[in-house]
Amino acid sequence: MTDVTKALKQHAHSLGADLVGVADLAMLEGIETTPPDLLQPFIRAVSLAVKLPTAVFEQLVDRPTPLYAQVYLNANLLLDQIALRLCGWLERHGASAFPIPASQALDMEDFTAHLSAKAVANAAGIGWQGKSLLIVTPQFGPRVRLVTVLTDLPLVADEPMKNRCGSCTNCADACVAQAIRNASTAFRFDSRDEALDFRRCAVKLVDEFRKLPLVDKPICGICIKVCPWGRSGSGNGA
Ligand code: SF4
Ligand code: SF4
Repeated sequence: MTDVTKALKQHAHSLGADLVGVADLAMLEGIETTPPDLLQPFIRAVSLAVKLPTAVFEQLVDRPTPLYAQVYLNANLLLDQIALRLCGWLERHGASAFPIPASQALDMEDFTAHLSAKAVANAAGIGWQGKSLLIVTPQFGPRVRLVTVLTDLPLVADEPMKNRCGSCTNCADACVAQAIRNASTAFRFDSRDEALDFRRCAVKLVDEFRKLPLVDKPICGICIKVCPWGRSGSGNGA
């Protein structure tokens, strides 16, 4: 790792990021973005993760709670602050940098984003793409929120992580919409529908959970809760 890559990661941790990885954007060639030329000026993407408290998930039974909704919101706000401050650091080091908002869905049907934070985190070695489609980190399982910062600084890229779901079927068994297909991928699913009946999940989140009092967001949390990875915050494994 070069000194500047090490310094960037240290700075991101000092800003509150729990996990930091660097993706070579060549690994994401062909990925859909809005606008289509979003990645064109950049060569690297920094993926940053903030851990969500495990105890919040213990309250979830079959739907999101108002407390979970607020913690989710606060984590996204923190991530956006970290990303913005990291852009300042990169610019002070002579680089161009662009923060992609942590949770800005462009529509409520397909939940498209400017750039998939999961795809970036996967390429940056933050975690593997689990059967739930979520990024599963060895340290905290899927109990993380993610944000991305694009840059033209030639940081040393990290390697993607091998899938460690193994024979676990917890998320498929617990899914409240019976949407998870129990499929696995070595690196990244070619489409969301390989892993999920995405429409079933989206209908549950948009038409039902978003309308719950004080939730007000298309969130769920059940497939996050049941993942055995990182339950103790130290990576206890599937
Ligand atoms: S978010 Fe909820 S509905 Fe969607 S896959 Fe996970 S458990 Fe199923
Ligand atoms: S619950 Fe099991 S199968 Fe689902 S993502 Fe976690 S480890 Fe993988």
